[in-house]
Amino acid sequence: MTIVRFAPSPTGRIHIGNARTAILNWLFAQKTGGQFILRYDDTDTARSTEEYARGIATDLAWLGIAPARVEWQSKRFARYDAVADDLRARGFLYPCYETADELDRRRKRQQARGLPPVYDRAALKLTDAERKAFEAEGRKPHWRFKLAQTAVEWTDLIRGPVHIDTANLSDPVLIREDGTYLYTLPSVIDDVDFAVTHVIRGEDHVVNTAVQIEITRALGATVPDYAHHSLLTGSDGKGLSKRLGSLSIGQMREDGFEAMAVVSHAALLGTSDNIHPCTDYRELVEGFGLDKLSRAPARFDEAELKSLNAKLLHMTDYVAVAGRIPGHSEAFWLAVRGNIEKLSDVEGWARVIAGPIMPVIASEDRAFLAAAKAALPPAPWDGNTWKLWTEAVKTATGRKGKGLFMPLRQALTGLDHGPELAALLPLIGREQALERLSA
Ligand code: GLU
Repeated sequence: MTIVRFAPSPTGRIHIGNARTAILNWLFAQKTGGQFILRYDDTDTARSTEEYARGIATDLAWLGIAPARVEWQSKRFARYDAVADDLRARGFLYPCYETADELDRRRKRQQARGLPPVYDRAALKLTDAERKAFEAEGRKPHWRFKLAQTAVEWTDLIRGPVHIDTANLSDPVLIREDGTYLYTLPSVIDDVDFAVTHVIRGEDHVVNTAVQIEITRALGATVPDYAHHSLLTGSDGKGLSKRLGSLSIGQMREDGFEAMAVVSHAALLGTSDNIHPCTDYRELVEGFGLDKLSRAPARFDEAELKSLNAKLLHMTDYVAVAGRIPGHSEAFWLAVRGNIEKLSDVEGWARVIAGPIMPVIASEDRAFLAAAKAALPPAPWDGNTWKLWTEAVKTATGRKGKGLFMPLRQALTGLDHGPELAALLPLIGREQALERLSA
């Protein structure tokens, strides 16, 4: 069975870029009949909050993602400690005593001499006596992973063959001086312990992957498959992470976007498929393939999401929205859905139908409208009434085309645009129509 995970840090709400990672994992799990794990990467206990975690859960639920399992890294420190001890015992983790300042100065010296700013492993050469002296000074060690300094290769399911020489990387710090964990080690331990088969995440993690593959091997575990998708940019081509605001999923929900419009957009952006609205996950799952994802950055354009949202609503069945537009009939929905961009726009049309409105009547149309009024068919009205009526008005007045229809629309709705009058007329009703035509 395939097992994937979405691993947000609950240090903020998720935006469309994070949601895209979650959706791609969810689609992959659905497509392969696998399992989707939500893992909170909350090792940074100072910045992580339960409120953010709840917000993320709410956002995922809104997007239609139902994790089979939820895990918290903050509950697994004992496990990480045990693994860290084992890595120490086997020489994979070594203590370093440099302060941030010292490291910084060293990096600057390297750069001045035209050398890459890679950690020089000075700590590996410390004698026991030197280590003791540091400890006596009150210094606490941070712990680095000793890279194999070798070529790490994998076949990325999106990027194809990837080759990274870890000799060009600094040995990564896995544990800080205060004993807290950076993201790297817990992530590997969890991926191993939860038997994750596919790690699908943003390409900002490609270099991490080389390191994580080495750690996975040091643990004697099976290396999962990796797929690194390109990142979303704004319509200006710049990265998203710095500018949450309207791009956060919570804000999109508040702004009245349809979840499936956001999902369709996020799922199809940057793929070889056309971006089009899908009313549920079925079609997206059917068409899904990691091989369809482009390596080029994908542009997120809010205007495109808006138009997708409108298109989605235009094809949405009444049953799918009935619960969200209480008091409105199917006939009403079918009449107005083609003229809305957000679901809340239906209220504007409800007011046009129920009135009161200000009929727009030009003085030169008064006689015409009086004739139209006289030709109004008797109740009950249905979808044919408009056609019957306008044919009768045409015969009686000799008008046709815009000259016939526009004065009727303006008198009946007060507007020169809107839903099909054939659908609106029975909703407006005979009594109100009479009143508006003679206003
Ligand atoms: N917490 C990490 C992030 O949000 C997870 C990366 C990963 O998927 O391993 O970037």
